Amino acid sequence: MTDVQLVAPIAGWVLPLAAVPDPVFADGMMGPGIAIDPTGSTLHAPCAATVLTVHDAGHAVTLDAGDGVSLLMHIGVDTVALGGHGFTPLVAPGDAVAAGDALVRFDLDVIVQQAPSAITPVILIEGPGVALADMAVEGMIAVGDPLLRIVRAGRGEAARPVDGAFVRRDMVVLLPHGLHARPAARIVAAVRASGAEVTVRSGERSASAASPVALLALGLAAGAPVTIEARGAEAARVIEAVAALLSAEVDAPPAPTAPPAVEAAPLEAGALRGVPAAPGLAVGPAHWLRIAAPDLPTAGEGVAVEQERLAAGLAAVATALDAAIATPGPMAGVLAAHRAILDDPDLRARADAAVANGMAAAAALMTAAEAQEAQLRATGNARIAERADDIRDVALRVVHAILGTQPGAQIVPAGAIVLADDLLPSQLAALATARVGGFAVLRGGPTSHVAILAAGMGVPMVVALGQGMAAVADGTPLILDADAGAVIPDPAPGRLVQARATIAARAAAEAAALAAGDRPAAMADGLPIAVFANLGSVADAETAAAMRAEGCGLLRTEFLFLDRTTAPSLDEQAADYRGVMAALPDRPVVIRLLDVGGDKPAPYLAIPAEENPALGQRGIRVALARPEVLETQLRAILAVPDVARCRIMVPMVTGIEEMIAVRAMLDRLRDADGLPPVPLGAMIETPAAAATADLIAAHADFLSIGSNDLTQYVLAMDRGNPALAAGLDGLHPAVLRLIGMTCDGAATHGVPVSVCGGLAADPLAAPILIGLGVRTLSVPPGRVPATKALVATLTLPAVQALATAALAAPGAGAVRALARRFAEETGR
Ligand code: PEP
Ligand code: MG
Repeated sequence: MTDVQLVAPIAGWVLPLAAVPDPVFADGMMGPGIAIDPTGSTLHAPCAATVLTVHDAGHAVTLDAGDGVSLLMHIGVDTVALGGHGFTPLVAPGDAVAAGDALVRFDLDVIVQQAPSAITPVILIEGPGVALADMAVEGMIAVGDPLLRIVRAGRGEAARPVDGAFVRRDMVVLLPHGLHARPAARIVAAVRASGAEVTVRSGERSASAASPVALLALGLAAGAPVTIEARGAEAARVIEAVAALLSAEVDAPPAPTAPPAVEAAPLEAGALRGVPAAPGLAVGPAHWLRIAAPDLPTAGEGVAVEQERLAAGLAAVATALDAAIATPGPMAGVLAAHRAILDDPDLRARADAAVANGMAAAAALMTAAEAQEAQLRATGNARIAERADDIRDVALRVVHAILGTQPGAQIVPAGAIVLADDLLPSQLAALATARVGGFAVLRGGPTSHVAILAAGMGVPMVVALGQGMAAVADGTPLILDADAGAVIPDPAPGRLVQARATIAARAAAEAAALAAGDRPAAMADGLPIAVFANLGSVADAETAAAMRAEGCGLLRTEFLFLDRTTAPSLDEQAADYRGVMAALPDRPVVIRLLDVGGDKPAPYLAIPAEENPALGQRGIRVALARPEVLETQLRAILAVPDVARCRIMVPMVTGIEEMIAVRAMLDRLRDADGLPPVPLGAMIETPAAAATADLIAAHADFLSIGSNDLTQYVLAMDRGNPALAAGLDGLHPAVLRLIGMTCDGAATHGVPVSVCGGLAADPLAAPILIGLGVRTLSVPPGRVPATKALVATLTLPAVQALATAALAAPGAGAVRALARRFAEETGR
């Protein structure tokens, strides 16, 4: 036998076998091997082989690599219990496969959430006289990278004939998931230790119980009748042991622990719970968006040919993106980020290397993109991981350009609720003109680009709806309540009528608000409440102007500069700020200082990896640690022609020292240029800032509550963790009490308070915020008319009473119930 080189079958993090949280694998009972904690979602062949078995549940594959060498790859631990959910086998027993061929596609989210571990052992289960060498070291690995080598280590031991008693037993398999890898390994270990010869028969087929492959190939399901035959001195004892192992699971790893119970707002009967990503209410038929991934040939037709194809594909997409970016619209910001991804030298280098190794151009680019996606997902930070979708999106564009194919055109009926497993920004862009009613996404995260885009388009979106939604058929009538983060399939006719009436009433109120033009929003009893817009791009500013926003309450400057490899120059920054200000003539624009770090990556700032990034270097901490960054940004803001309309806002403030430091630099730069004072405000996003709002207000011209971060820090729940999303509710009385403290503290210095976090756009929250003392609401551009319309229905005594009741409520669910009752009473 010649040595067999195995390549990594999955992208991920290489681990020693001992790291697999299942003793059957970790203790080598199944054989020697290595493990990968996957970040990719396709299992590939590690070498040329013939497929021996594919478990019915799709989670485990055995391969015959020739010369008696058999391999097992077992995706995750105890994944047999998923019963096939999340696994799509792409091969069948008997298939011949080449190294790198796809074997099983799987849903990593499902495994992570529903199985004890996703760690995937790759094991040499049979191979007389061979050993493993050149094992990959612990660390990231991409599909196709060298994993280990199987080498001849000596002569295999010849089987010796066995004498002794012959015992036989009939039984049925009682294992709830049938005979899968773990019990098979235990049977093999027991049989080998006994020295007996044991055969398991099922119908016409039989298997030596010393061979895990042969046992797995029997495909024994729960309830299958079997006959066990044993010969040898230990026959009677071993047959009992085998029977026991076919009857009950031994040492099954513990099921994943359920996330701690969190109090969530009650859901109406039959509703599916998700996470609000873009507010609003919609009614319409379900329409599934199903995207077929293109078929990618792996073998190239010569390096020169494939290099040319790759270069042509990249160039074609660059041209298309440049043209699209030049067209103003809500997608421009995201497309600019995609252009930066396309130019990423690392992506190109990886693709070039794969082509040089003989891979076809399209497959090479996809492999390169998968490796980068894996790196992002491996950060474990949900917000960064969401950016992996953007890389996939760009890669698919290039793949289609190389193959000369088109992504399947989607025709979505107007008003339909689009259902999708996941949504890419380009898919959303393709639907921008389709007058979609709403988006209901099975996976996804509330801070992804698509969520921000949907909010900008004013189309409601609920994400993280989970597998419950998979059963919703095309055409099913749906209510999408993105304010509650819920989808109600097949609602009762009365409920449907009620939802339609609410939508109609809201639409009429929004139309009236729009028709009122630039008239400032005011409550029914005359108190003015400013309704501003949150912006991340010049295109957002244009939308905000069309929506009659009274100004910009939050310009997320980091959005302008996140997906780039070099720091933005002063001129680039100034051009962007000028563009935003020009789109909102005569209106105030609050420019937030760069809020990078932690969950918002900025490669050019090279912040060292942190164990707890949300509590690490982020926001103003980063800027003060790099005064040159802060100074460039302040200079860029001061360079805007009508700087008198600008207000500067400091993110992630925890104390007055930060405000004093920023003001000192601002005053120095301003004085040097002889410019007038520019208001400086503090974001209240940390419990420390809220609790000392009176102290901070003494050093601030305004306070703006970042309810997204304030909620995460008060409730100690990561805002990017989908598992906690349902409990991450800014209407928790603890958050409201801190907002109340902020308003009271600000009032001691006569400093105005706004809210620019997501709570401001939540129609159940806005009345409470006003009741607590907030006088400016800054919301996504698409929500401006609705927020103005809502404000016009309110009176100060009513919202103050509501706020008092909310502060005394026992939990977020109770506050939402109060707010819903208040909304019904005020006819909304
Ligand atoms: C917030 O935290 O509420 C906020 C507005 O800032 P960002 O969402 O950009 O962190
Ligand atoms: Mg924030």
